[in-house]
Amino acid sequence: MNERYSRQILFNKIGEKGQEKIEASSVTIIGMGALGTHVAEQLARSGVKRLNLIDRDYVESSNLQRQTLFVEKDIKEMLPKVVAAERHLKLIREDIQIKTYIAQCDAKLLNEVAGYSDVIVDATDNFNTRQLINDFAYKRQIPWIYGACLESTYVQASFIPGVTPCFNCVLPQLPVISRTCDTVGVINPAVTMAASLQVADALKILSGNTFTPKVTYGDVWEGEHQTFGFKKMQRDDCETCGASPSYPKLAESDQHVTELCGRHTVQYINEKLNRAAIEKFVAQNRLLHRSNAYMIQFLYDDHRVVAFNSGRLLIHGIDTASEGKQFVEKMFG
Ligand SMILES: [Zn+2]
Repeated sequence: MNERYSRQILFNKIGEKGQEKIEASSVTIIGMGALGTHVAEQLARSGVKRLNLIDRDYVESSNLQRQTLFVEKDIKEMLPKVVAAERHLKLIREDIQIKTYIAQCDAKLLNEVAGYSDVIVDATDNFNTRQLINDFAYKRQIPWIYGACLESTYVQASFIPGVTPCFNCVLPQLPVISRTCDTVGVINPAVTMAASLQVADALKILSGNTFTPKVTYGDVWEGEHQTFGFKKMQRDDCETCGASPSYPKLAESDQHVTELCGRHTVQYINEKLNRAAIEKFVAQNRLLHRSNAYMIQFLYDDHRVVAFNSGRLLIHGIDTASEGKQFVEKMFG
């Protein structure tokens, strides 16, 4: 028996055969924040060898409370979250194969990255991306696992094309946290509950166990935990899992300006504002800045801006898309 995974192989629902399947599998995790770091670490330790990690952000001090793969050094080095995560995961398992994408998750990226994954894990904090994942997963017939947490509450469910209705069909019944953005805080036990439930379902799917997915939700502070089945909630006219699906989210044009939920930050994407253009701008205006291989951080008009090499800007200290547009117009005319 493979000593490293002996305790997992001894668990009779997995066994030698299940473990082989887990090790041969590939998982895409979207979002490398609280849920994403917990899920990635657990899957890597469970033996999943191929991971695709997608995240648009970099490590900051407020992350350390619950995003367990990150350490203070990552902040000093201004590392994108997926890069920091890859470094730490490789310390757990040297031969793990990780592909990292420092990017906004859109339909194009999902097509490139996630089409051959055995499972897609939602570790995002926003509703739009979840609906995009839902459309992509049902179109490509890939199971995806939803998770969310807020304050001391958590919710989790697996959506399996051909077996269960989709996220949109169940949405009216889901606890309200699936729609809210992260502005009221969260404690670590709520994160680990959601992440553990996601990983448990991932291991069931990857090891070839069949099961009937349920929505699980609760409150770790109040000690209340509930589940309900949703197999019969399918709407025939659903645009994603109904009789004639149109997968509307896959056809939507990409947002170039996005307000980042609860972060006082606006994301602005324009390929022309790539590394060379930003370096030139920073030099010409003699702006205070720091940089590494992935991004340049600079101060302009009292706002901190992080510019990733691909032409994606995070403008901190503003809240609305229109302010973001005005800010970029002021910068580049
Ligand atoms: Zn549906």
